[in-house]
Amino acid sequence: MYHGAQDGWIEVVSGVMFSGKSEELLRRVRRALIAKKKVQVFKSHLDDRYGGVYTVSSHDGHEAEAIPVSNSVQIAGAVGPTVEVVAIDEAQFLDGGVVRVANALANNGVRVIIAGTDMDFRGEPFGPIPDLLAIAEKIDKLHAICVQCGDLATRNQRLIDGEPAPAEGPTIQVGGAESYEARCRRCHEVPPRDRAQVEMKMRGRKSEDQ
Ligand code: ADP
Ligand code: ZN
Repeated sequence: MYHGAQDGWIEVVSGVMFSGKSEELLRRVRRALIAKKKVQVFKSHLDDRYGGVYTVSSHDGHEAEAIPVSNSVQIAGAVGPTVEVVAIDEAQFLDGGVVRVANALANNGVRVIIAGTDMDFRGEPFGPIPDLLAIAEKIDKLHAICVQCGDLATRNQRLIDGEPAPAEGPTIQVGGAESYEARCRRCHEVPPRDRAQVEMKMRGRKSEDQ
């Protein structure tokens, strides 16, 4: 279905950080280049792993440069009329408009490959990825290895000074001192929001008073 088909479609590679989503996206891009497809690659400008623009190349010398974008409108504006494959990495950082852009491209016969982490550090659905998973023709959920117990990791653990970060922090932390680990459901730790803790204490006190 996905090889040589003329019509467009959407495929999503999701999962926890370190699960190999970028590796898989680049593998698919490389194979599309080998097939001599016209490919354009985008990535969120918030992804600084590769220090700006990075280039994907196939062994026979075809190349695609990943263009950093800060929103979905920039993607819509940058896709050339003859492009056959569009790949978007770190899509969790993009706005909800990426759903409309991906659909419009697929409707125009473009193969759209999207990679992004599906949960934020709290274990809650992240940005536009849940909607993209819903409208995609093909989805793959990748796992990493839990650094605590060696099981399959599905959750992004945010750490601040080596300690699990509380839930009330911002979903997207730019330039923060935090770090991330891949963990399984059992080892994933999110201390409760401060306010929730206070409210729970208050409620407990009220019921004691009654
Ligand atoms: P993603 O895009 O999903 O964040 P990448 O493709 O950038 O993932 O990186 C995947 C690579 O990260 C793996 O091939 C492996 O070498 C490395 N890695 C580091 N930590 C882990 C881990 N806890 N589990 C699995 N792979 C890991
Ligand atoms: Zn674990």
